[in-house]
Amino acid sequence: MTLPADQPDVVIVGGGLAGLAAAAALGAAGFRVDLHERRPFLGGRASSWELPPAVSNGQMDGDLKVAATSIDNCQHVLLGCCTNLLDLYERLGVRHLISFHDAVPFVTPDGRVSTMQERGGPAPLHLLASLARFHPLSWRDRLAVMAGLAAVGFEPAMLGRLRLDSETMLAWLQRHLQTPRAIDYFWRPVLTSALNEDPERVSAWHGLQVFWLGFLANRAGHRVGLPAVPLGELYGAQIPGLRVHLRSAVRELRHEAGRVAGARLDDGRMAPARWLIVALPFEETARLLPGDYSAFSHSPIIGIHLWFDRPLFEAPFAALLGRTVQWAFRKLGDPGYVQCVVSAARELLPMPPDRIVETAVRELREFFPNTWAQLLRSSVIKEVRATYSAAAGMEARRPSPATPFANCFQAGDWTATGWPPTMEGAVRSGYAAAERLTQAAGHPQRFLLPELPAEGLSRWFPTARVY
Ligand SMILES: Cc1cc2nc3c(=O)[nH]c(=O)nc-3n(C[C@H](O)[C@H](O)[C@H](O)COP(=O)(O)OP(=O)(O)OC[C@H]3O[C@@H](n4cnc5c(N)ncnc54)[C@H](O)[C@@H]3O)c2cc1C
Repeated sequence: MTLPADQPDVVIVGGGLAGLAAAAALGAAGFRVDLHERRPFLGGRASSWELPPAVSNGQMDGDLKVAATSIDNCQHVLLGCCTNLLDLYERLGVRHLISFHDAVPFVTPDGRVSTMQERGGPAPLHLLASLARFHPLSWRDRLAVMAGLAAVGFEPAMLGRLRLDSETMLAWLQRHLQTPRAIDYFWRPVLTSALNEDPERVSAWHGLQVFWLGFLANRAGHRVGLPAVPLGELYGAQIPGLRVHLRSAVRELRHEAGRVAGARLDDGRMAPARWLIVALPFEETARLLPGDYSAFSHSPIIGIHLWFDRPLFEAPFAALLGRTVQWAFRKLGDPGYVQCVVSAARELLPMPPDRIVETAVRELREFFPNTWAQLLRSSVIKEVRATYSAAAGMEARRPSPATPFANCFQAGDWTATGWPPTMEGAVRSGYAAAERLTQAAGHPQRFLLPELPAEGLSRWFPTARVY
């Protein structure tokens, strides 16, 4: 099919990280790309909102000033091991806007703090000294954790991906004799926030992946990356060959003889396409492409935005142990602004926003007892469909970029990337779909980057050959 010169080679549906990654890779490879995004901004779930003039607790007074003009849908965190996401930020020219933190404070409700940070030694021993002083755990719990982490270095190689994926992480932890306290004060907080799922449900394959890539393989893996600007400001770059169409929803795909001819837009117009990438969440993909999506379900995240009259704590962020709120982040440029995150928040979902705020504020006062800070305003964002649930047994159900149509590929954090549903997973899916497209077009290209390499003693662990 020959298309007129003003028409693109590739139509991408969806301007989240998966669609943006495919667009950036294909644009740089010389393709003319048209990206259609339903909303008036890019970034999908990893984006920002304009700050509303009034807020949920109804106590807004017109004179109140906050420094921020927009807020993130929810605080988004990346780790040093997110190689492809960092590559996308490089392509978009915003890599310098991500600040990395080596020290990760864990706080208990009595206000005591243990910091997980590199304290010398080769991987995987670089966090050992922090773990040895980790105050929420007794010596018995710490030894159990160390033995469990050592097992992570062997287990995936022994059991293989599908066998490990059929087990929940909780079952794996119990099989490796982890104490209840070690589970609740070490494994659970890391797993729930990294995978947006409870250890009771989440696949052991992904659970072990988090600890291998984040704690063991490489000394840079655990570093926490935070954008220094609202998420929406990361996606403003001019990408060569790319035209972005905002407020442009795709209603259906037109196909004939096993190929997609084009995308029908909500306004009725047809966007003809030689190649097409559908980069949507699974429930939206189901509207456009045939397939079996019945195994997929969602896991929610709640973001609680709180503005106090003064800073509540000094660190840029903290993991909060043993209560409802799991993480608290301070936002740059707005000293009293704290953003709290609750992942896998099924139990909290039915609670009204004012009670969620009440709970968060009460808990923050436990964690940071020496504060006189007063709450000025608040906003609660419940993302019911935050990510698909990376439950045990799902790996075999995640589809490849191929679709029933020879010229159409799919992407999204739920497709078979090998990664859990994260920004890194979404970018990988976009690069993978773009690679498949270049193969089908007869000019195969590589866009996906490998994991951070295992280094130091970690190179000798069998798991180094698995993830
Ligand atoms: C509250 C919350 C907190 C999170 N925290 C983290 C975190 O800390 N770290 C992390 O790595 N990940 C986090 N995630 C997960 C991460 O945001 C997602 O995995 C990732 O952004 C998914 O990208 P995507 O491109 O696959 O999908 P999406 O971001 O959903 O992109 C799909 C896009 O398609 C558009 N669209 C839908 N239908 C149509 C249509 N018919 N036509 C055109 N466009 C359409 C949508 O508007 C959207 O922009 C979080 C997610 C949420 C919701």
